[in-house]
Amino acid sequence: MATNKVQSVFGSLTFSDSVMQEKLPKPTYKELQRVIHKGERLDLDIANEVAHAMKEWALEHGATHYTHWFQPLTGITSEKHDSFLTPRGDGTTLMTFSGKELIQGEPDASSFPSGGLRATFEARGYTAWDPTSPAFIKDEVLCIPTAFISYTGEALDKKTPLLRSMVALGNHAKRALSLFGKTPAHVTTTIGPEQEYFLIKEEDYAARPDLVLCGRTLFGCAPVKGQELEEHYFGAIRPTVNEFMKELDDELWKLGVPATTKHNEAAPCQHELAPIYEEGSVAIDHNLLTMEEMRLLASHHGLACLQHEKPFEYVNGSGKHDNWSLVADGKNLLDPSDSPEDNLQFLVFLTCVIAAVDEHADLLRASTASAGNDRRLGGNEAPPAIISVFLGEELDAVIESIVEDRPYTSHGPTTMDLGVPQLADVVRDNTDRNRTSPFAFTGNKFEFRMCGSQQNLSDPTMVLNVAVAEQLDAFATELSVVDESDFVRHAMKWVKKTLTEHRRIIFGGDGYGDEWEAEAARRGLPHLRSTPDALPAIVDPANIELFKRYGVLNEAEARARYVAKAEQYAKLLNIEANTMSYMARHMYLPALIDYSGDIARGLSAKADLGMASASERDLLARLNGGIDAIYASVAELERVNEVARAIDDPAAQDHAYYDEVIPAMEALRVIVDDMERLCSLDCWPVPSYNQMLFYV
Ligand code: ADP
Ligand code: MG
Repeated sequence: MATNKVQSVFGSLTFSDSVMQEKLPKPTYKELQRVIHKGERLDLDIANEVAHAMKEWALEHGATHYTHWFQPLTGITSEKHDSFLTPRGDGTTLMTFSGKELIQGEPDASSFPSGGLRATFEARGYTAWDPTSPAFIKDEVLCIPTAFISYTGEALDKKTPLLRSMVALGNHAKRALSLFGKTPAHVTTTIGPEQEYFLIKEEDYAARPDLVLCGRTLFGCAPVKGQELEEHYFGAIRPTVNEFMKELDDELWKLGVPATTKHNEAAPCQHELAPIYEEGSVAIDHNLLTMEEMRLLASHHGLACLQHEKPFEYVNGSGKHDNWSLVADGKNLLDPSDSPEDNLQFLVFLTCVIAAVDEHADLLRASTASAGNDRRLGGNEAPPAIISVFLGEELDAVIESIVEDRPYTSHGPTTMDLGVPQLADVVRDNTDRNRTSPFAFTGNKFEFRMCGSQQNLSDPTMVLNVAVAEQLDAFATELSVVDESDFVRHAMKWVKKTLTEHRRIIFGGDGYGDEWEAEAARRGLPHLRSTPDALPAIVDPANIELFKRYGVLNEAEARARYVAKAEQYAKLLNIEANTMSYMARHMYLPALIDYSGDIARGLSAKADLGMASASERDLLARLNGGIDAIYASVAELERVNEVARAIDDPAAQDHAYYDEVIPAMEALRVIVDDMERLCSLDCWPVPSYNQMLFYV
């Protein structure tokens, strides 16, 4: 069979399993597989052989340098390039790469956020090879995915706790599965991250300091047209964007990223890319690579890629859906199947997820909290900041029948036997879709839709994994002591008890409506509106205990993560406030002063002729009023920002930003946007929403 172009390029720049099979001696390959799949320790001899093969392969593909590629608490990726050069001393050089260089790096940790974990006198940090995620070549650099830890072994990154959570989930899922007579070798998380983004003209981007410095527009009056015609979603893709998407696919495929779906999204200039799902940490590495390639390749097409959650007011923001499931030796554990005995198992796993989400709703919410995402959540375009679970009509009915001990009658056409007497059938392909739910069951996986577009999915995935591990642990512990012959009855009893306790989290209605807010409050569900409200959940004693019990984060690591996130929130808002005062003082005020001066001169010339226009006089008065109001408003913003900036306590500082600085930012924006409406296009110092969102 002929191989097509895609097949020949796919993975050509990754040190993939097939490359390893080809390049490594058989025993070395086998040993490495044990390390990857069974989590066994890697010895240095094996590492040396792998490093040698990796280097030879990388050199063949034009690489000159290598880097340990890691994800500090900023959430984005970091790299420092080292060459393979080892000069011989005779004017020539060898190209070398040792096992030690492969498995461990030592970047200076002091320049990365640590939330106080790393004392300043101990700046050392280590990167450690993650052999479960394939190395790849990017721009002539061999990139080795790594975890980043402190000298004392504490996680300084996003990947380490994620990997730990995958181990915890795998172990407890195996315990639960063994009660169903199953002994899979490998149980883990699968993730399919749908990535939304905007593309605008690079020249418009470059002309707006707010986009360049903050990733979002801090000013801008409403465009004459928004997304109300609903023409953009799935609409024909404009040629420039199409060229960009094609190049993006090509580059991602070379890197082994299974990019598959691309389409226009609801807002003008908004698009989405979805890959085929993969194992958790690999999928997240690939999402980070995707985001990086998007930013880079956009410039090849005269475009800029915006990944902020809310680059523009008045139109939808961008999210990243964390499609999540569990897989046991290739079998999806959230896939309802036709066989009765498997359906009880499905019900147990489903129940565990429901209970996990209810038990740690606050933590899940916190895992998606950021200054950017605050602007999107609850805005009638994204789920509210209240966590609930959507199951669809059929599963709702099943759960109701279990909790209330009533016989179950199916509404749907396709049925399957649940294998438990009182549960006759459940619809197989749950195609019901509720776009307003933050956490929806979509047939054979859950879709966590609260995550922000620029976020690293490690945090939400880690929280989900560990929260579900806790429920599987509870199930396995309780059921391991019951008599085998009575397993089904006891398992159903556990399911019923657990669902009864956690039923309040299930909600199938309109998550965007105000009624839901009131109903959620009645149910006692947490509504953590803002990042400052949400973040403290990370250090809630029950949550710290959860992290500790499953070996995902110790208390110091959890506290450090809280501090790092809280500090990041304040720092981002400080930058936004600074950018606003910079733009107001150096761009908007001068433009308004010039423009009103022109009008005044024209007006006085006309007055000399006895022809002064009343509307020009009115316009001038309004511009003058605007200039004074902006002047006063910038000063007020600077004042409150200074007060907030000086606060030491991270929680108090975040609240000051939310309560004082954001309102001052909004007040300034309103005045500037009003002035934009009065001015000629020529005098306005930055591109307008009309220009940016509706380019040709
Ligand atoms: P939507 O209708 O939400 O756009 P799709 O059916 O296109 O959803 O799937 C969205 C994402 O979910 C894709 O990235 C897909 O690979 C992923 N996905 C599908 N099955 C699973 C699974 N079992 N685990 C994790 N992700 C999955
Ligand atoms: Mg989706």
